[in-house]
Amino acid sequence: MTPAVEFRGVSVHFGQTCALSPLDLTVARGETLAVLGPSGSGKSTALKALAGFVRPSAGRVLLGGEDVTDLPPHRRGLGVVVQSYALFPHLRVDGNVAFGLKSRKAPRAEVTSRVAEVLDMVGMGAYAKRYPRELSGGQQQRVAIARALAIRPEVLLLDEPLSALDAALREDMVAELLRLRAELPDTTLVYVTHDQGEALALADRIAVMRDSRLVEAGPCERLYHRPSEEFTASFLGASN
Ligand code: ADP
Ligand code: MG
Repeated sequence: MTPAVEFRGVSVHFGQTCALSPLDLTVARGETLAVLGPSGSGKSTALKALAGFVRPSAGRVLLGGEDVTDLPPHRRGLGVVVQSYALFPHLRVDGNVAFGLKSRKAPRAEVTSRVAEVLDMVGMGAYAKRYPRELSGGQQQRVAIARALAIRPEVLLLDEPLSALDAALREDMVAELLRLRAELPDTTLVYVTHDQGEALALADRIAVMRDSRLVEAGPCERLYHRPSEEFTASFLGASN
């Protein structure tokens, strides 16, 4: 079957800095892939190349078998949640979630019903008329996820979506993401994290990164119990 996501020899340089060494990686439709590695290992760069926020120096990015390397981010049809991608402060929650639908010129009735639907999905139905500043960090991140889901993306990208939250809330959110996951069986998830606990809890497969390179990728079970690389063993086994 055609993979939902395919990196074919994708590398990224910023001037002399190599942020991503040639990456070959595929994600199957409906799969959750965690991209796991320490800070500075190239995780966000890989995700940005997929989203179209940075241009690869070489290689191709494919979505559903289509080469999207030359398409701008908004033409890739992805849902993206990154920390720096904050909510629009001047828009209420419903306005934030509606944004992508409106820019796609969806009919008003459809926008209204879809906004209510995705806010319910993340447990934020009661907060539609609040402004972002009136929400906690966890609530804002839920709204950001609803905003990404509003356009019914086939692929949802999440870059350290929980890293700003405290430990207890992170655990709640992992449980919620698992529930959301079950509601969206056909959606492909690429989940970037430096937290091995999150990766093991959420992912079907894990891609371990170090020094801008993919160390190895495989099912959680195998990587945890029978890693091929010493680095995988030390990183997946390390306690938080
Ligand atoms: P991670 O998300 O795993 O923490 P990044 O992908 O952000 O890692 O960064 C990988 C490497 O690329 C790091 O060495 C980082 O300093 C470098 N890098 C990332 N973005 C830029 C940029 N815009 N300009 C220069 N170097 C960058
Ligand atoms: Mg990062």
